[in-house]
Amino acid sequence: MEQYIKTYKEQLQKLKAYEYAIWLMGWDKETETPIQGYAYQDEQFGVLAEAAYNLESDPKYIEAIEHLYEHINELEDPDFQVEIKKAKKSLRIVQKVPKDEYLAYQMLVQTAMPIWVNAKKNNDFKAFAPTLEKVVAFQRKLVKYLETDELKGYDVLLDFYEDGMGVKEYDQFFNTIKEQLVPFVQEVTKTNLRFPKRLRTGPFPIDKQKELANYLMAVFHYDLEKGLLKESAHPFTSGVTSTDTRITTHYHEDDIKSSIFSVIHEMGHGIYEQQNDEKYDDTALHGGTTLGIHESQSRMFENMIGRSFAFWEVHYPKLLELFPKQLKHVSLVEFYKFINEAKRSLIRIEADELTYSLHILVRYEIERALISGHLKVMDLPKRWNYLYSKYVGKRPKNDSEGILQDIHWAHGSIGYFPTYALGSAYAAQIYDAMNKDLNVETVIRTNQIALINHWLKEHIHKYAASKSAKEIMMIATGKPFDPQYYIDYLKRKFSNL
Ligand SMILES: [Zn+2]
Repeated sequence: MEQYIKTYKEQLQKLKAYEYAIWLMGWDKETETPIQGYAYQDEQFGVLAEAAYNLESDPKYIEAIEHLYEHINELEDPDFQVEIKKAKKSLRIVQKVPKDEYLAYQMLVQTAMPIWVNAKKNNDFKAFAPTLEKVVAFQRKLVKYLETDELKGYDVLLDFYEDGMGVKEYDQFFNTIKEQLVPFVQEVTKTNLRFPKRLRTGPFPIDKQKELANYLMAVFHYDLEKGLLKESAHPFTSGVTSTDTRITTHYHEDDIKSSIFSVIHEMGHGIYEQQNDEKYDDTALHGGTTLGIHESQSRMFENMIGRSFAFWEVHYPKLLELFPKQLKHVSLVEFYKFINEAKRSLIRIEADELTYSLHILVRYEIERALISGHLKVMDLPKRWNYLYSKYVGKRPKNDSEGILQDIHWAHGSIGYFPTYALGSAYAAQIYDAMNKDLNVETVIRTNQIALINHWLKEHIHKYAASKSAKEIMMIATGKPFDPQYYIDYLKRKFSNL
């Protein structure tokens, strides 16, 4: 037994070193690497990725995991048991998917991205369709390789991104949204609000926006000794340990909202990982437990805290100080309405808090039909446009603002989208539970967000990936996940607006 533990840990240490180098390259690519440097970087990435694959498929390593898994009850440390269960589960790719098919697929998704970029730019779905056909064909095969008694069809893919969530669970969730949210949204978004032109278009000088980002990092106690803020085309968070979790944003001179809420959103992700117990840094359990729980932290920061009236009661004066001319005739109430404007829109990443999950509902129904074979790739644009008018209430005029808008399917990420909506719903339930221990609104109004961070650390963050999403919901809220909290929260907030 001891020997197997030793083998596992030594191999993991090596793997982590490769992963660290690969992580650093990925971070660098998004934030620093000059365009001409990409090709050389990709070559080195290829070498390291193959070396990492060889370590993962090393028979010695597999044998150790298999043995430890068979004797899992003899392992004393419960965290180590969780780690071995996860390691065993991830072996299925090496063990069940033929290596040549898997590697060919990796190449396919590498080349799919520029094809998608061009198709989107030229509004030409037909140019992307053959590639997408291949991606979907592989995903359907993957499903067949990995199906178990519990996980069938689309379940297999959903489970990749959110352990424990399959079609049955998601159907329940999305049915609640369909029945209760779709009619409410249609009511709320009947009329469009009017705002001063200057508020919509600025300009808001970038150097002032940077000053604001620094101010926000201090307000939220994002730890700059364990992280930093840079710029990238699309904002993201990237962490490797509790001592190194970085975030990015993107500044738009004509848009005051974009960077404010990106920074707050990414800090939700970042603080989650900075507050992981550092004992997990050297294990396979560092990081968030699932994408859904991760997203719950970012959405709570962004929407429930960052878009609350209480928050801007304290911080609007800072905004007025930075942008005195642009906000001269904008009252606090007007600004609050502006940052919570709900409208029927076509682009997911620009969607507001209220309508966001309807964009995900469309994608969920499409993915499910694609994987079951009920929907063909060539029929996607028609289906997409139909579902947008049905659920969101607006029909795309072309495929660039419709079926081609997201990068996920080009990456091969099918089953990923639902975690975005789930995250918002988890957040509402967690926020409700936090309110039983703290008066959150008062905490926000008195600028004590450290108290919120502390609560989240004790109930969610410190556990890293050592607890499942279901366990985290029980620890944090005392109840299993219930989407009703989310619906009620949205109805309360947007009825008052
Ligand atoms: Zn996020």
